[in-house]
Amino acid sequence: MNQDKIAKLIKELLTEIGEDPSREGLAETPERVARSFTKLYEGYHEDPKKLITVFDNEGYNEMLIAKDIDFYSMCEHHMLPFFGKAYVGYIPNDKIIGLSKMPRMLDMFARRLQNQERLTKQVADTLNELLGPKGVGIVLKAEHLCMKARGVEKQNCEITTSSFTGLFIKDDRTRSEFLNLIA
Ligand code: ZN
Repeated sequence: MNQDKIAKLIKELLTEIGEDPSREGLAETPERVARSFTKLYEGYHEDPKKLITVFDNEGYNEMLIAKDIDFYSMCEHHMLPFFGKAYVGYIPNDKIIGLSKMPRMLDMFARRLQNQERLTKQVADTLNELLGPKGVGIVLKAEHLCMKARGVEKQNCEITTSSFTGLFIKDDRTRSEFLNLIA
């Protein structure tokens, strides 16, 4: 990312919305925004397959769940934040991933311009690809500032999305077990 260029564009944007970019409170804002973008959008430069280490499974055959993982993303329609909790579950075959890598992988996809449906599916597909598990279940619950801040009706609604593979699709009991454990 070209920080100088982004700062320059933010300064122009400030003028366009009716601001005076030279007033004291805004003096450093373009540079600050440019710096924050390197974090908010760092996901474009990361490859989950390079960053996620996979281990051999030593005989664990039950469902594994990571609950209440915080995530922050930016909606691609309005460039406003949406954020909430993720629930990631899978039943391993031969491979498992380090537990701390689940939030890491979610962040990789969240730190881009996104929609919640795609984000959910990308996490499910990547786990599926990396581990070849018996099944994956992902649920994301999020609030969207583009709904709240713009005064769209039903301001307090929370959006839930889910993506399932393998046993989580084929076996009702597996899916219910997962949904009960994250409820
Ligand atoms: Zn939006």
